[in-house]
Amino acid sequence: MRYAETGFDLEIDLSRGSIDRVETDPTLTRLYLGGLGINAKILWDRVPPETEPLSEGNLLIFGGGLLCGTAAPGCNRTIVSTFSPQTRLLAYSMMGGFWAPELKHAGYDRVIISGRSPDLVYLWIHNDKVEIRDASHLHGKGAIETAECIRKELKEPDAQVAAIGLAGENRVFYASIEQGRSSASRGGVGAVMGSKGLKAIAVRGTKDVNIARPAEFMSLCNDVLKYIKFREENPIKGVPPILQGLGSPQEMSLVDEAWHTTSFMWGNSRTRRKDFWTKEIEDKWKQSQESVRTRLISCYNCPMKCGATISVPGLPTYMMKCYSKLTYTMAAYSDLEFGFKIAQRATEYGVDGFSAPQVMAFALELYEAGILTDADFPGMPSDVEGRFFWLLDRIVRREGIGDVLADGTYWAAKRIGKGAEEYDHNTIKKHEQLPLKLGMLNPVYYLMYSTGEKINITQIEGQFPQEPFPTREAREEFVKDWVQVPDEKYKKYYVDWEPRGENSNPYYPTPEASADIVDWMEKMHYIDDALGTCAGLSSFPLKPPYHIHNYPSFISAAAGIDMDKDGLWQAATRNRTLLRAINVRRGLRRSDEKPPANHWKKRFPELEAQLLDTYYKLKGFDSEGIPTKESLHALDLGYVAEDFEQRGIFSDGQG
Ligand code: SF4
Repeated sequence: MRYAETGFDLEIDLSRGSIDRVETDPTLTRLYLGGLGINAKILWDRVPPETEPLSEGNLLIFGGGLLCGTAAPGCNRTIVSTFSPQTRLLAYSMMGGFWAPELKHAGYDRVIISGRSPDLVYLWIHNDKVEIRDASHLHGKGAIETAECIRKELKEPDAQVAAIGLAGENRVFYASIEQGRSSASRGGVGAVMGSKGLKAIAVRGTKDVNIARPAEFMSLCNDVLKYIKFREENPIKGVPPILQGLGSPQEMSLVDEAWHTTSFMWGNSRTRRKDFWTKEIEDKWKQSQESVRTRLISCYNCPMKCGATISVPGLPTYMMKCYSKLTYTMAAYSDLEFGFKIAQRATEYGVDGFSAPQVMAFALELYEAGILTDADFPGMPSDVEGRFFWLLDRIVRREGIGDVLADGTYWAAKRIGKGAEEYDHNTIKKHEQLPLKLGMLNPVYYLMYSTGEKINITQIEGQFPQEPFPTREAREEFVKDWVQVPDEKYKKYYVDWEPRGENSNPYYPTPEASADIVDWMEKMHYIDDALGTCAGLSSFPLKPPYHIHNYPSFISAAAGIDMDKDGLWQAATRNRTLLRAINVRRGLRRSDEKPPANHWKKRFPELEAQLLDTYYKLKGFDSEGIPTKESLHALDLGYVAEDFEQRGIFSDGQG
């Protein structure tokens, strides 16, 4: 019997119209755990590096994490993995909500989509019954509207539906997959779904998920719930409200946006408005938020309530969560009322709430600079809010200038030319980043921005505070109950970190300490992404309930795999190295590893080179960022070493 996982994948070939239920190899679970780890192994094995992201040969994998569908609180992530049309590298976007647990209860660990359907279709998975169904009547419909239509026609109000909107159908490079209570937004996974002619996947499952040692597992789950309550009652002191608790419920329950609106950039990630937040604004935004927020909501089996249903008068209800509340507002220099209105349309179209507003702000900057002219914007309204709606409508239809902008700022700038490249200043590896510009280089963030395979800073960071508390006493107090650290040395790194002076940024944390800190943070994300745990309860916040010391017991009790801390660390290292290998095989090298061009005003080229060298060494990569033969063999990734050898990828004389 298989525990925690179902032991079966669904293989759907849309070119042939075939559906296969395939038993999986339990060895893969021991090596890669599940979720992102196994998705990555499948992509390595089956998608040659020359494959175009929007071609038939690309795969689109919806993987449930190993603990999804069990009683482990917050284990509900669907990991959607494919190759991104925007970065041309691996994309692994994740969504919360209910989809992956439903899939596990239907009897499958993942759905692997290959090929391309000549006509628009959707997939209906109802336990053992799986069908590819005609979706021609859903063409052009919004993502949320599509989910409603499918539930009605199937007469299955409890079906979980992941769908694309017009942006995905038209292969907008930052199209999302929407799922009612969450979305997989980054990297253009919705465009890949559109390229396959797949409008939606609906799933309903009523089977059990087996647990190896149920009583022990339930006791561990109860400990997590108790700790979540403890953290609710004991927020971290001395950090902004958004960093005090677990999950990200603050955005939708509170209105205090002083931190985001005064620290993050407005427009095309250009302008900081340090004095923006006033009592008058707070009152107005409170009124805007409370008049449309109808209910606070959670994902599957989680007490946190990070999302909210939003009902703007005259518009259908949709779900909002986290910083997407502000992305449109700040890109357009507008207010919250506008943000709530345009986010409804954007959610139906299915676009990434980080990239889309930045692309529109980028277009308007080019217009102001005279690089784009009136001829590029025929009939565009004169007010900025009207312009945002106008641009959004054209981008998702790929009409006129919208067709150029639909490829994201990096590719759009290249197509536009005439100096437009200078305005593409906030991307990493061709992908839009969080609109943030700072003063002094932070060595830890430098490494995360430069080297993260996720290419998305918000899902790499966490665990280690973003800055030192002002006094040594406060830092010593903070580390007293810091049980989550994998090693005592992390406490020392933090206590010795000063806001000013010799032990401050950019030379402290030292390159060795910075590499260690990043190693810990990213490993926790790799574990979450394999287990399907929400980062909001694990790798993202300070002092979370899940950590390297209790995770092995969860895996052992749920899956019956004999796991300890070292084994889990090794599995996370293997997954991280495999992802690097996939991107290396697609051409990623050291020269690609840099933060957004002007993220920090003060830069230190020699130190930055030293940071990269130190990080690469710790990770077992060579000076080009390529995993060494020795490190690959030590991680049971000998097949990667053989492939690198054959392709002549090894550098530094290893080949
Ligand atoms: S912490 Fe928030 S985002 Fe994470 S699973 Fe819970 S409700 Fe969802």
